[in-house]
Order: sequence, then C-alpha cells, then structure tokens
Amino acid sequence: MKPRLTEIAQQRVGDVLTPGHFAIDATAGNGHDTVFLSRSVAADGRVFAFDVQTAAIAATQSRLAESGLRNVTLVQKSHAELESTLPPETVGRVAAVMFNLGYLPGGDHSVMTETPSTLAAIDAALRVLRSGGVLTIIAYPGHAGGDTETTAVGRHLAGLASDAYAVEQVTGQSGRNASPILFVVTRQPRSASDDT
Ligand code: SAH
Repeated sequence: MKPRLTEIAQQRVGDVLTPGHFAIDATAGNGHDTVFLSRSVAADGRVFAFDVQTAAIAATQSRLAESGLRNVTLVQKSHAELESTLPPETVGRVAAVMFNLGYLPGGDHSVMTETPSTLAAIDAALRVLRSGGVLTIIAYPGHAGGDTETTAVGRHLAGLASDAYAVEQVTGQSGRNASPILFVVTRQPRSASDDT
C-alpha cells in the first residue's frame, strides 16, 4: 500500500529538521504534525503552531501535554498573520513549514482554509524559510472550495522562480473523491535569492 500523504510530508520534513531548528505548523488541526515537529526540533528548538479554531488549539494542546512536549507556541490566529506573529530571530531560520488544508476532521466543517489567506500564508512561509528548508502543503480537491483552492495553490507554486525553489507534487489515493495532492517546496541552497 502507498504511504499516506501525511506520512510522506513528515518524511520529507524529517529529512531536513534537526534538533534546535525553528518549525511551523500552519494548520494545527488535531495536532499530529505539531507533535511530530516538536519531537523533531527537540527541547532546543521551537515550533509555532497556528489554527483559527478553539477546538483545534485545545486538541493540539492536550496532545502536547500528554507527550510532555513544551517547545511549542500555540497561536490562535490565521496563518496569514504568520510574519507579524513570529519573533524576529526566526526570520530566514525556519527549517520547515507544514500546511494541511481543508477542515478539521471530526470538527466544524464550516471552518476551512480559504484561498486568499492560504496563498498569503504560503508567501509568508517562503519568506521566513531558511536555505534548504522545506514547505509542505496537502490540498484536498474533493470538496467544495477545496477544488479551487488546490488549483490556486498549484498555479501559485508553479509561478515561483525555479532557481530559488524546487516544487514537487505527489498525488495521494482517495476512495470516493478527487485525490489529495501533496506539494513539497524546497528553498534551494545557495540560490540567487538566498539572503541567509
Ligand atoms: N483536511 C485535513 C485536515 C485539515 S485541518 C485532513 O483531512 O486530515 C485544517 C485546519 O486548518 C483546521 O483545524 C482549521 O481550523 C484550520 N484553519 C482554517 N483556516 C485557517 C487559517 N486561516 N489559519 C490557520 N488555520 C486555519
């Protein structure tokens, strides 16, 4: 069986994350990626986890507490506010940013990521990423709103300068709906736009 896109995304992020790094979960949801990032950067690193929804922040908080993880700053704000929220010392030093779009499984399906703030947050994430850092985005074209969001994300990433960013796409499996897509963006080391 093919691994799930969430596992592939964690694998790709795990390849570049080491203890002491900064990392961002842009859509904390139930906290699975936040816990993964927290463990990967270890006590010397720090994770910033964003979600607009109280239920998601609470779920993530209790998952972290259960595992005794203390290196996460939970932020109940839109990921579009990423840059104004992060402390200045993190800029250009973030090793990984993870997005899992759509709505919270088992939660309020009316709260979902939206194209304009998603694109703004992706641009912000790319600006704070360090050289060699990785951005992962899982998009779900199978639901209303998710289809246009997935197309918009794909177009947006296709427009990035290829000397600065490498973009890959992995298609997942879905029983009923259009298959989810994982986008992996790597900020090229020693690129022309490398300012770190
Ligand atoms: N679709 C995925 C889970 C996505 S969870 C799956 O099936 O596994 C997406 C999370 O993004 C939700 O918890 C939701 O509250 C959050 N979210 C929605 N808009 C957001 C925004 N603008 N900023 C940060 N988080 C947001």
